[in-house]
Amino acid sequence: MTLIIFIFGLIIGSFLNVCIYRLPRDISIIRPSSACPICKNPIKPWDNIPLLSYIILRGKCRNCGERISIRYPIVELLNGLFYLLILYVFGFGWHLLPLFAFISSMIVITLIDLEFQIIPDVITLPGIIIGLVSSSFLLPDPFLNFNSSNTTVGFLNSFIGLLLGGGLFYIIAIVSRGGMGGGDIKMMAMVGAFMGWKAVLLVTFIGSLLGSIMGIFLMLLKGKDRKTKVPFGPFLAIGSIITLFWGGAILKWYLG
Ligand SMILES: [Zn+2]
Repeated sequence: MTLIIFIFGLIIGSFLNVCIYRLPRDISIIRPSSACPICKNPIKPWDNIPLLSYIILRGKCRNCGERISIRYPIVELLNGLFYLLILYVFGFGWHLLPLFAFISSMIVITLIDLEFQIIPDVITLPGIIIGLVSSSFLLPDPFLNFNSSNTTVGFLNSFIGLLLGGGLFYIIAIVSRGGMGGGDIKMMAMVGAFMGWKAVLLVTFIGSLLGSIMGIFLMLLKGKDRKTKVPFGPFLAIGSIITLFWGGAILKWYLG
């Protein structure tokens, strides 16, 4: 079971690479099939095996010899490992499917936002719906005991989370006058729909903390001034992943 889930994670990870490259460039994610971004030569199926092909090809295109970004195998491996962690923490069941979709979305959002400073609606809008629907009967509440499978997020909690996440970041967007974009608003509505309102608060806290640390770090290191734009989506995504796996433990520690 562990091996199947890991391989499934690698294959989906390979698809995530397609999404990360094509979504911000407005290319269809279904066709054409994968091609080298430099020489445009179509990639043969046997050169498109997650993780393995990168190692066999030593990170170079078979046709033109151009370096393939290390991002490709990293995304595949990361997605595979996260799927394993989800299986380990939440156990086997149908709830794995929306959780896999959620964590993969966070990976895609992080890499697209880092490069393009956008968070595509084609991820967040369906994400809001999937979170809202699956929270009532499938999604485990990250703040309750993982081992009891009946502790779902619940529709009301999910709906309040959606409104709180979207509303809070809508207010932040107005107050910061463009420092926060519409993508962040929809992303946090999705996070709330998947994990409930408590998660919105914790994700906002962790994201702001990480963002501040990174901001100070960049100012000291690169001499960037305070007006330098740093995309906030990646910090919210990391906060969401931390909250999904350790939100309950963090809350327990904080209240204790
Ligand atoms: Zn090439």
